[in-house]
Order: sequence, then C-alpha cells, then structure tokens
Amino acid sequence: MKKAVVLLFPLIVLFVMSCPPQRFLIKESEQKLDYTIALDSTEGVYQFKVNFRLQGDFSGLTKVYTPSEWGPATGLNENIKKVKVKNASIEEQTDRYLLLRHAPRASISVNYTVQSLPKYPVDNPDEMFHPILQKDFFQFYGNGVFFYPADLNKIERPVNIYWEGFPEDWVIHNSYGSNQRKQSFRWRDSLWLESIFVGGDYRIHKIKIADDPVYVAMRGKEWRFSDDEYLDLLKKVITQQRKFWNDYDFDYFTVTLAPFMEGQNYGSYQGTGLRNSFALNATPKVGLKNFEYLFSHELMHEWIGLQIKTADPEAYRYWFSEGFTDYFTYINMRECGLISEEGYLWQINNVVKKYYKSAVREATNEELAANFFTDYSNYGKLAYNRGCVFAMYTDWRIRLDSKGEHRLKDVMQEFLNVCRHGKQRLTDELFLKTVNQYLEKPIDSYFEKHIQNGALIPLEDWMLGAKTEIREENGIPQFVVK
Ligand SMILES: [Zn+2]
Repeated sequence: MKKAVVLLFPLIVLFVMSCPPQRFLIKESEQKLDYTIALDSTEGVYQFKVNFRLQGDFSGLTKVYTPSEWGPATGLNENIKKVKVKNASIEEQTDRYLLLRHAPRASISVNYTVQSLPKYPVDNPDEMFHPILQKDFFQFYGNGVFFYPADLNKIERPVNIYWEGFPEDWVIHNSYGSNQRKQSFRWRDSLWLESIFVGGDYRIHKIKIADDPVYVAMRGKEWRFSDDEYLDLLKKVITQQRKFWNDYDFDYFTVTLAPFMEGQNYGSYQGTGLRNSFALNATPKVGLKNFEYLFSHELMHEWIGLQIKTADPEAYRYWFSEGFTDYFTYINMRECGLISEEGYLWQINNVVKKYYKSAVREATNEELAANFFTDYSNYGKLAYNRGCVFAMYTDWRIRLDSKGEHRLKDVMQEFLNVCRHGKQRLTDELFLKTVNQYLEKPIDSYFEKHIQNGALIPLEDWMLGAKTEIREENGIPQFVVK
C-alpha cells in the first residue's frame, strides 16, 4: 500500500453504561428527545431539515450542545444553518452550544438545517466525518447532526427519530435500527451520539451469529470482492470473537461500508468503532485481505476497551487496550482459520521485530502515554508491540504455573465479568491482583520493570509452546519451529 492505513480507533474506548437501578430512578422524571429529520432538496441543494423537540429545564435555562468537532473533523458547526427556536429565546449562542431561556419545563422546539459537505467524493479522509447528502445516498455520524441537552452527560434519555421526505425506495439504516422511519431507542449519555446513520442506495444484508442478527449495510459496486465474500469474513471474525468471550448478549449490531476517495488508485481505509456498530470507508482498490486484521483487531475493542474499560488516564493502559487486543487478534485469527500456524508465528515474530527495532523501545510507560498521538509511529506502535509481547509473556507464565490448566484467556474472562456494565474499570492493581491468582509468584516487580519503567522484555524458549524455540536473527530474537 502506498499510503498508510488510516485507523480511527479511540472512539470505541469511550463507553459508559448506567446500571439498572439508576435507570429505574431516572425513569420517573425522564424527558424524551424527539427529532424529525427531513430531506430537503429545494433549489437543487441537498440538506437535512431538522426539528428537535425537548422539554426545558425547571430552572428556565437549558444548555443545548450543537455539533462542533468530533474525531478528526473540526468546523462541524459551519454545516448548521438557520437555527430557529420556538417557546424559548436564545440567551447565548457559540459555535458549541445554545443557552435557551424559557418558562420552567417549557416544550421547546428548535429548527435547523444541516448542510452536506459541499464537495464529494472527498480528497481527504477527515472530510468523511462531515454529514454527506447526495442525490442517491446519505451518511453521517451522530455528532455531526444532533443537538442535545447538556444534561445528557448525566441522565439517559429516550430518543425518537422520525425520518420524513426520503424517497420510498431509500434504505434508512443506522446504529439503532434498520429500515424504520420511526425509531425509538435510548441514549445513555452523550457518548451514544457516536453512531452512524446511512440511507439511500445501500444494500442491507443480515447475518446471524448464534441467534443474534448482525446487519451489514454497504454501497458501491466497484469493490474487489463480492458482498458474500465480505459477509463471510465478518461472520467468521464475529463468530470467533463471541465464542472466545462466550458472550452472546447482542440484540443489534451493524457494520457499514462505503467507498471514499474513489479517484485514488491505492488502497486505504478508515474504520471507526461506534455504539452498536462499526463504520468503514475504503477506497475501491482495497482487497478483502486488508480487512482481516482490521475487523479482528477493531471489533475486539467491543470487549477490550468498551466492556473492559481501562481506568483514566486511558493512555497509561494502552499496553493493555492495544497490546492485549493485538495478542488476541492474532490468536483469534489463527483459531478461525484466517491465518495458519506458520502465519501466526510470522505475525508474532513481526511484532517482536518491530518491538526490538523500535528507536524508543525502552521508553517508560509515562513517556509512551505522553507521546502516543504526537509521535504515533514510534510511541503509538510501541504500545501495541510491547503490550502484545507482555501478553504473550503473561499467557506463558500462566500456562506454565497452572501446568496447562489455565491461560490468559481465563483472566480476560474474569476481567469481563468484573468490569462489564461499567461496574469497575481496569486498573494496574486489578490487573495484577487477577493475574497473580493464576501464578506461583506475583509478577508485580516484572510489571514495574518492563511495563512501567520500559525495560526490554526478554524472550524465552517455550513462550509459544514446546514446538518452538528462540533463534537470533541479526540480533533480534525470533521464534522458529524446532
Ligand atoms: Zn486498537
């Protein structure tokens, strides 16, 4: 590939679930958010006309957030025009929010239009984060279109969306349902706006994983693979992951695929993990092979990152959220037959090679966290590679000490049990306490030396099992079959 793959993953690690008792308490006084989204193409300009209805605060002042920036997109506020408020007056308006004054608990209505990105197809992948509305389809992320009350950050709300004026033969499909012109669901906090909405000439497919449906929405006809091949890959990856976690608690999930930067003759793609969904944009030159690692890694964040959410600051635990994700990405790719035993060995050796050759391989965890985004090719990659090798070490130690009875997978399932539904966040202490239960000797000092202080993790024979051993190749240890 000529161009580096664009991966947008951090959004998936922002997830808060409220526990059921809280939800019950809120129910008594909860206020719904109603949106009517209409297609408007008068004068040949395509735009969304939105009518947003909410009940104002008892205090007589309600702060409503408006689209501003999200992910790599800035200036989302510039797409919003003609804001008009009924039953309230605008006390203050910035490019991030509206402050509305009104009678206590007034029924407020806000009308606004959302303009499409003017130039399509895009040249820059970041532009895909702006709303796109063309004569045959639309695509937008929730954060680019919806106004919402500031207290959504604290209180979950029922949400209704009414889709009006869209052609009968258009598909309406999103993170909250498929082909419903009236939708009802809940937003548990403002992070639930991180969702994908598409419509128009998308093809909707339904695959079943155990008894749960996964919807796949795709458009574009120039792909180098058939719809069926794409569905088969998703089915293989998701089936393996749910089996790995023994987790079948999914009522709805969707994966979208749309072409972007169609004029480019190189393969590039951009995947974003969202509520109940994964949105993928790709250049038509991308082969299906490219998506094998992408899906295996990114969809694994449903558990490592989303359900097992790490403690703040998140960057301090990228060795876990990215490194352990990578380790289980390769294991699951091998388990479901996407890579062979030799392919698995090659992948692990490649991780080791990149780790040992890294210019910053002995950076402390604090340095890694501070430079993760600003120097991603060094510090960012180090989190994945060091974390993956540490996962391999931990897995090996557990198998050794338990005489093959346990594996790191058992520890991961324990993390899932104690962390899911926002019960706990994964801290270093919880990690060590749980792992140590499977070991003869605690690994606290090893963890401090190699993860916190950054000393290079040495490799040993047996780490990948009895069939392999270590051989040095140009000063880099590599696993070889005995
Ligand atoms: Zn990741």
